Amino acid sequence: MRVLVTGGAGFVGSHLVDAHVARGDEVVVVDDLSTGRLQNIEAHVSEGRVRFLEGKAEDPAVIEPAFDGVELVYHLAAAVGVFQILAHPLASIRTNLDASSAVFERASARGIRTLFTSTSEVYGKNVSDALNEDDDTIYGSTRVHRWLYAVSKATDEFLALAHHQELGLPVTVVRLFNTTGPRQTGAYGMVVPRFVRQAIEGKPLTVYGDGGQLRCFTNVHDVVAALMALTAAPAAIGAVVNVGNPREISIRDLAALVCEIVGSNSPVELVDYESAYGKGFEDMRRRVPDVSRLRRLIGFVPTTPLEDTIKEIARGIAPGR
Ligand code: UDP
Repeated sequence: MRVLVTGGAGFVGSHLVDAHVARGDEVVVVDDLSTGRLQNIEAHVSEGRVRFLEGKAEDPAVIEPAFDGVELVYHLAAAVGVFQILAHPLASIRTNLDASSAVFERASARGIRTLFTSTSEVYGKNVSDALNEDDDTIYGSTRVHRWLYAVSKATDEFLALAHHQELGLPVTVVRLFNTTGPRQTGAYGMVVPRFVRQAIEGKPLTVYGDGGQLRCFTNVHDVVAALMALTAAPAAIGAVVNVGNPREISIRDLAALVCEIVGSNSPVELVDYESAYGKGFEDMRRRVPDVSRLRRLIGFVPTTPLEDTIKEIARGIAPGR
């Protein structure tokens, strides 16, 4: 099978590429390398298992040839990480909306099975016990740039579902809950690789706010297995599905856990949100997935313990690198 992965040089994308290559598929990757890294897929490219097209998914000169002979599309290319969104709001909106239009339009015209990765951010300030796919989304003011990520991804979801409804696109929308694992960089804000690196280097662990905010961290290998299973599930067509590990942990407890696993004496440094992200930032207090729909569709849910994921990330980070 020939598979197209937009954003395939990125963190989640490159693990997905690995899994498809291991299955014997031919993979086409479109990535502009804005946050993705060629080294993530370099070995496959030099072995001729992956065809790499560098450029933006919204550029017709890139996306048109990328669709050649493709039977399955994963659309992952997007602006990544809170730091990136706050620093480049305009480019982030354009990337998220234009790339999705370009991909969905072509996939619809050819009737190709498509999976779009959205995010748990779309729930916004909804702090329900277990967020269900049909729950309300609650956003803050348009003057707070953080919400543009949630709103642009939610708009992408509308786009995907409209293509499904009106043009018959066989698409599944997936909401990822804090995916983490090896190859994820802390440079764009992601907390787990940041804490692991800080702990290994003996630096203070920068806990933002009071550290009482709760998240569910999901191992990237679990995510890849779930994405692949969803594309093979006809009942997932036209559905929105949470993909996450429902175990929740506060950021303060995460810092302690990382230090314990890495064997580090690093202190915790509480950093106020304004110093971390600039004025007017709003964080989300809590984000826990209801994974009953995922379990119904594919028969399993992410369960890799966070402790194992932290060890895996630590193995990939050598001190001083
Ligand atoms: N965070 C933190 N220290 C850091 C980076 C992030 O305390 O060095 C916090 C961040 O404010 C948020 C949580 O960790 O409450 C998860 O942040 P991340 O950017 O990984 O994902 P988010 O859930 O915000 O998309």
